[in-house]
Amino acid sequence: MRRLLWQALRRPVTLPRPAASESALAELAESVDLAAKRRLGRSLSIRQVDAGSCNGCELEIHALNNAVYDLERYGVRFVASPRHADVLLVTGPVTTAMREALERTWTATPEPKWVVAAGDCAAGGGLFADSYAVAGGVADVVPVDLHIGGCPPTPTQLLRGLLALLEATPDNVRTRK
Ligand code: SF4
Repeated sequence: MRRLLWQALRRPVTLPRPAASESALAELAESVDLAAKRRLGRSLSIRQVDAGSCNGCELEIHALNNAVYDLERYGVRFVASPRHADVLLVTGPVTTAMREALERTWTATPEPKWVVAAGDCAAGGGLFADSYAVAGGVADVVPVDLHIGGCPPTPTQLLRGLLALLEATPDNVRTRK
């Protein structure tokens, strides 16, 4: 028994790096320009914004920091202030109560910046689309560069989308509109 336990502990617990999402790379071709790529280098600072989520998406985002996914090994980290962020990772439909907060957070984030809408609610309101309390999807309030679908997206889906941001290369980008 002790030998089996020792063998299990000797193996790395982290999952191997997943491939960057092909669909995310295609979507990013519209929005990542060369200056942005130079600024990004090999690291990303992310400010997460809950614009009205049920918190299902947040649970999966939190899992990115655990010992299995270990997001920071890729140079991706969460920061507390939008002023230190390259990326706003927005979840939930945008509620009317959170609309101004999202707009102000977006304004406070320095250029160049990207907005990633994570989860089906962020893409278009999802389950809450017709609610009187919902202003719409994230793109109805601020420009969105990348959508990561799912309800909620799994940590691997989130990771593949974020890695696509790091991997957008000069060959597959065009000037931002
Ligand atoms: S996409 Fe699903 S998990 Fe995420 S906020 Fe909407 S209902 Fe919740």
